[in-house]
Amino acid sequence: MSIFDNIKRNLEKVSDYLSLTNAEKELLLSHKRITKATLNINGKVYEAWRIIHNDALGPAKGGIRFHPNVCEDEVKSLSFWMSLKTSLAGLPYGGAKGGVKINPKELSEEELEKVSRAYIRAFHEFIGEDKDIPAPDVYTNPKIMGWMLDEFEKIKGRHEPGMITGKPLELGGCVLRGDATSKGGKIILDLFLEEEGKSPEKTNVVIQGFGNAGMNIAKMLHDAGYNVIAVSDSKGGIVDKTGLDIEKVIKTKKETGSVTQYPKAEKISNKELLELETDVLILAALENQITKENAENVKAEVILELANGPVTSEADDILHERGIVVIPDILANAGGVIVSYCEWCQNKTGHIFSKDYMEKILEEKLTQAFRKTYDLYKEQKRFSMRNAAYAIAIRRILDAEKARGNLD
Ligand code: NAD
Repeated sequence: MSIFDNIKRNLEKVSDYLSLTNAEKELLLSHKRITKATLNINGKVYEAWRIIHNDALGPAKGGIRFHPNVCEDEVKSLSFWMSLKTSLAGLPYGGAKGGVKINPKELSEEELEKVSRAYIRAFHEFIGEDKDIPAPDVYTNPKIMGWMLDEFEKIKGRHEPGMITGKPLELGGCVLRGDATSKGGKIILDLFLEEEGKSPEKTNVVIQGFGNAGMNIAKMLHDAGYNVIAVSDSKGGIVDKTGLDIEKVIKTKKETGSVTQYPKAEKISNKELLELETDVLILAALENQITKENAENVKAEVILELANGPVTSEADDILHERGIVVIPDILANAGGVIVSYCEWCQNKTGHIFSKDYMEKILEEKLTQAFRKTYDLYKEQKRFSMRNAAYAIAIRRILDAEKARGNLD
């Protein structure tokens, strides 16, 4: 099953509740613009995409991924999730995504800069602060956003910092952006556990993925008293059921490139990590990690999707039946795009917001999105939290399409 097939399947699950017409389904499953280019760098050719799913609510928004497995199906799926995420968070944005099929680990810094600039030369016509606004995603970072902004402004001959978010601070970036996704994930997890009457001190956590999202949330949860017992990266995982010293694990990751080099814990495979007994399993790597093949073996009580699409639609059904709650990506990882929204507002207005003000916006928007989702999830007995989040997000997009006269 392709990733986008999972989306189609998930849409069917809320179709009756929303009384979706064929025209509405067709619109939701189509993309407003699919652009593809080949980037020629030092005699090598790389495929690249920028895809807008929907922009009825405002300019499209979504990150750019550099990864060897990037393909059109993945970028289409990620752009769909961005439309739902921005809608659920109540932001004035649509959804988009970009990607380059490349392994950045094999590139020199100079080559990486060439790829970043070539990407903007290929897609600059379709990007802009009121059209489509990129940001970092897997294996892209503020430095890359800085090169991209520079290339864009050179082509256009004017400043337009709001064309991209997640930039370095010196170029109009936002103080909160670096760890906003993790901060948001923690806010959502805290809210959920409070509803379920569980305290951080009594909560064991396992985290798959130790990059921007996974490493930052590991630190935040550890500092808040949660017991982080296992973490992993692409090379494998480590476990210590009495709790890992996260500061030291981070130091090991930074010095050696992998958590697996941390000497004071047992080494495990990523497969084993996903099947550990724990209260909370946080998925912070890539999509399709829990599938119908391993969903029966998951022993976590709650899964927090910090990554996009880590649980397939079929796995969702198995987990739901087994009473395992999945807090869906479009809610759990919305912190990044909410802070990107603050960055964009600053760039467009010239105002500089205080850190406190932006933290308040982050907390308010996530709390509102959580409340709406949780209440519908509790009200509709057969709904998973994903069904509830999808229903709310889709309704807002369709209302905007109707207000534009694009749907009856
Ligand atoms: P990143 O590149 O900083 O980190 C990815 C991490 O995943 C790395 O530690 C890598 O080693 C690990 N990894 C890769 N394959 C793995 C595997 N098979 N098993 C275990 N670990 C593996 O990326 P990130 O920004 O942290 O993004 C992670 C996920 O979160 C992605 O799905 C991304 O779309 C999503 N996300 C990120 C943000 C953000 O602001 N960073 C926002 C929303 C969603």
